[in-house]
Amino acid sequence: MTAEQIGADTTGLHAPEALESSETHQAAPETRTDGTGQLILGGTPIGNLQDASERLRAALASADIIAVEDTRKLRTLAAGLGVHTSGRVLVNHDHNEEARSAQLVEAVAAGQHVLLLSDAGMPTISDPGYVAASAVAQANLPVTVIPGPSAALTALALSGLPTGRFTFEGFLARKGSERSRRLRSLADEERTMIFYESPHRTAATLADFAQAFGSERRAVVCRELTKLHEEVIRGSLADLVAWVEETQIRGEIVLVVEGAPAPEAPEAEDVLSQVLARVEAGERLKSACAAVAAESGVSKRDLYEAALAARNS
Ligand code: SAM
Repeated sequence: MTAEQIGADTTGLHAPEALESSETHQAAPETRTDGTGQLILGGTPIGNLQDASERLRAALASADIIAVEDTRKLRTLAAGLGVHTSGRVLVNHDHNEEARSAQLVEAVAAGQHVLLLSDAGMPTISDPGYVAASAVAQANLPVTVIPGPSAALTALALSGLPTGRFTFEGFLARKGSERSRRLRSLADEERTMIFYESPHRTAATLADFAQAFGSERRAVVCRELTKLHEEVIRGSLADLVAWVEETQIRGEIVLVVEGAPAPEAPEAEDVLSQVLARVEAGERLKSACAAVAAESGVSKRDLYEAALAARNS
């Protein structure tokens, strides 16, 4: 590939008109005209090859280095996409990521384009990539991303549960105090929660959810997303526990759980009468307001003004 070709569109990244603006051109970290290296975090399909982006194909074809968890998965991906890769392939997984990241930083510093992939989905999301991304960023070198599917967001969108605020919990610890502590800490979590789970642990995890969050809490099992046997099962945790007992569950699983209901706002009259009772018992108005505001979550100032008005009425 010539420098000119590379400079024009290394990873299929920008529409030609965007490149016409010299300002945009300079800002585009993917272009190689200045010999700048970069780490590219590449999202790959989570089951359906057709979800691979054009940018991913182009990056696979042009990267100087491709860092992967498993070289066989890379071969399958490239063959499936009909892409010829010529970059040097390096293995980057949970067990060598620390050591490997130094080598990747050096490569980026030397002007190389390093494409980092995980086996499926977005690197860094319950997958390797974070250590390298963080090391390259720390070295003040460019990191960019080719977004692709991630099972977490795919499941959240499909779940039908509130998407406005959510928390990604990844894999729970399999057992022990770490698992129970995490479940306890999530009992009052108001945001929708997303968990990854293996099929053979799904029954135990749903049962633990029912215990920690209450069996009436709504939840969704998302199985084999984007694949032929994609399946989404919605119900209360009690329903899902009953369902999983009857099912030989297979494939890849994401569990999405509704958040806890927000605590009800206290009645204004109740909090006011608490303040007045404290004052009656000899406490100063300001300190009574501060104490009741802290307990009830209402504004101290509003409470003080309401108490003054009540006292003067
Ligand atoms: N980096 C990936 C991502 O962005 O989604 C996640 C990798 S993590 C090691 C693998 C877990 O993701 C699986 O055990 C499962 O919980 C979830 N997962 C991945 N692909 C999935 C799919 N097609 N359907 C359902 N869950 C999936």
